Amino acid sequence: MISLKGKNAIVTGATRGIGLEISKVLAENGANVAILDIQLGDGSAIKEVEALGVTCKGYACDVSNPEAVDEVFKQILADFSKVDILVNNAGITRDNLLIRMKQEDFDSVLNVNLRSAFICTKALSSHMMRNRSGRIINMASINGIRCQAGQANYAASKAGIIGLTKSNAMEFAARGVTVNAIAPGFIKTAMTEKLAPEVIAKYKEAIPLKDLGNPRDVANAVAFLASDEAAYITGQVLGVDGGLGA
Ligand code: NAP
Repeated sequence: MISLKGKNAIVTGATRGIGLEISKVLAENGANVAILDIQLGDGSAIKEVEALGVTCKGYACDVSNPEAVDEVFKQILADFSKVDILVNNAGITRDNLLIRMKQEDFDSVLNVNLRSAFICTKALSSHMMRNRSGRIINMASINGIRCQAGQANYAASKAGIIGLTKSNAMEFAARGVTVNAIAPGFIKTAMTEKLAPEVIAKYKEAIPLKDLGNPRDVANAVAFLASDEAAYITGQVLGVDGGLGA
């Protein structure tokens, strides 16, 4: 059993998919959650997390914009006074073969998936280092390790997340702040719903555990890395992929 009671977490890209599930699992373990997303929609994600008995506030913010992030993080620190956990989860895909990939699709994927993690970590690093404690968890992907055709932008961004994670882990270790990455395999979300049924069937066949994962599988790994029990783990990439990356 882990407990995150009294801890405050920021989760980016958290109004749906894996980010929402992470917010819910952190809340189930007692953490208050600041949900950051480019748009908050009808606010149902905030209500779902709040219903778990914690404080949850939503902040609309493009995480690839440093000025917007600085402003929102100032507001979060004013609202929560302390932040213990940062989950850099926001991500997008703009797949295409390199020959057809538009420059803007390369840039936007790098900006949202990688640059945002740099921006959000930088915005919070002095706060965490001053507190001499903190947990930063970055969302990588199996496709940043074992890459596929048509994902030059996505693969580069997720391989970059792994480099950023390891470098930040070395910089923050002496201050009690751990930095780890999770590399999900194929998880049932809107991102994978776009795939053709025959592609999904092919993946299932290749995955040793013979199924796609659920957002909760990823969220449980985040909650563990965010806990006191994971204090001696830093600079690691944890695969949540049914054995695909083994
Ligand atoms: P998702 O369902 O598409 O959710 C991503 C969230 O991020 C959405 O709420 C999206 O907002 C938000 N977002 C997009 N751009 C943003 C920005 N500039 N600023 C703030 N928020 C932004 O994706 P997911 O499947 O849950 O994936 C979550 C993370 O896991 C991503 O980093 C992804 O690369 C990684 N991952 C997913 C899988 C998988 O199988 N699903 C596998 C490996 C890794 P909108 O709704 O407005 O677009």
